[in-house]
Amino acid sequence: MESLQIKGAILSPSSGDAYTAALKRNSDLSTLRAAYVVQPATVSDIPLVLAYAAAQSPPLEVAVKGGGAHSSTWASSEGGIVIDLSKLNKVTLAEDKQSISVQGGALWEDVYKVTSQANVDVVGAPLWFVGVGGFTLGGGYGPLSGEHGLAIDNLLSATVVLDDGRVVRTSAEEEPDLFWAIRGGGGQFGIVVEFVFKVHPYAGPFTGGLLVCPVADKADLAKISDLITEWKKAQTSAERFTLHFSRPPPEFKPCVLIFPSTLHDADGARAHDSFAPFLELGRPALPFKPAPDFLTVSHAADRALEHAPRRLAIRGTMFTDFFPELLGAVWDKWLEFTEGNADVRSSAVLWDCTVPDRIADVKPGDTALKTRVPHYWMAVQGRSTTDESVDACRNFTADVAQFVRAKNTELSGQDLGWLFNMCQGDEKPEDVFGENLPRLREIKDKYDPKNVFSRGVSVKSRT
Ligand SMILES: Cc1cc2nc3c(=O)[nH]c(=O)nc-3n(C[C@H](O)[C@H](O)[C@H](O)COP(=O)(O)OP(=O)(O)OC[C@H]3O[C@@H](n4cnc5c(N)ncnc54)[C@H](O)[C@@H]3O)c2cc1C
Repeated sequence: MESLQIKGAILSPSSGDAYTAALKRNSDLSTLRAAYVVQPATVSDIPLVLAYAAAQSPPLEVAVKGGGAHSSTWASSEGGIVIDLSKLNKVTLAEDKQSISVQGGALWEDVYKVTSQANVDVVGAPLWFVGVGGFTLGGGYGPLSGEHGLAIDNLLSATVVLDDGRVVRTSAEEEPDLFWAIRGGGGQFGIVVEFVFKVHPYAGPFTGGLLVCPVADKADLAKISDLITEWKKAQTSAERFTLHFSRPPPEFKPCVLIFPSTLHDADGARAHDSFAPFLELGRPALPFKPAPDFLTVSHAADRALEHAPRRLAIRGTMFTDFFPELLGAVWDKWLEFTEGNADVRSSAVLWDCTVPDRIADVKPGDTALKTRVPHYWMAVQGRSTTDESVDACRNFTADVAQFVRAKNTELSGQDLGWLFNMCQGDEKPEDVFGENLPRLREIKDKYDPKNVFSRGVSVKSRT
């Protein structure tokens, strides 16, 4: 392997610190010890690595790393080759500012550096360190999704390295099946080395803040969910919030944290007006403050995350509405879990409230993403300070996500399945892709018949 003539870096356990650094992921639970980590410097390096992996007997497993933010081990490999795209992170805004080309290993920070300078915006992740690759291939719910839909709904074209080393361009006109599959089907069809996204006019200034609502009993929680139901009636695509069940340090008392955020809000007036009713429930821990650009917004959580335990397990699903019974039952589960074991008290449950209409404008069969009825998404984040409590975190995240899906189905009559970007790989593909699964299987057989790109929620047919 070391003698492979590529322009990028080839790292192995004998490379010392550089190898150790290259294995690092956002969650310590996502790291596996690869035989080699290859960091291509050009797209033409990648076919050589794929050919090398295929020529071994048995062939070496190939894993692809974008930003390394996914809380599974999908971007890592035990004993195989990781193709780490971090050096392929160039971002180029088109001269007419209507589109932006982003290499497959870029982080959203790389994109926001360019868009913020140019006073334009794109649908991307709320946090700077999330990779463009994984986020987009799994759908991509972002703070601008209320106005412009998901990241995949803003994807114009992509360039993909296939299992046999061919490099193809895909769009609605070129290789349209592949284009359909990578919009929600994940990284199992090839390595995306370039995404081209639609660019939108500047959506800022962006106002954000934090309200802390202490919850003494179920009645407090019921008040919050009643308020949300009322508030949503006037919500526009420029206002959203995330709600967290959390025990903020230093006291670690159970709270509901509400992070309101607004678009097009130069002086914070929109945030003050829109979120005024919430001020009756809690105290502002951070005042409403406008940020000039999305790069700044994407760093807003840095201080809080700096001290968060790095053993992180995430599962997520979708839900139809902020039903009081749903919130109440999850609150009880979270309270019990975080009360009984100090190792896991940083574990949190996050509920996103973005206007879902633009997402639901796209039909379920138009992209590989299953769920297009109006919906919201939630994430269960299990964090542990010790190895001993990791299994408890994993079980907690799985149990709560399963519960939310089942309870939401009972309350709404709609089974929304799993949120691909927060799956772990043990989910049934039927539950992730629904009626799109048969077409995904056909496309997988066409573009990656040997299942070279095997990580994720596999659609490979078992026959
Ligand atoms: C703190 C946090 C907040 C998040 N918030 C959101 C959110 O608001 N909305 C949302 O939708 N998701 C969110 N996510 C989930 C996130 O979108 C996924 O974890 C996503 O996979 C991260 O992308 P990545 O490139 O960093 O992942 P990686 O860990 O690098 O990869 C994840 C998967 O994508 C594949 N992949 C990555 N890049 C490529 C590529 N270029 N070509 C082919 N395959 C590729 C990998 O092989 C792997 O299977 C969040 C995650 C975290 C940890």
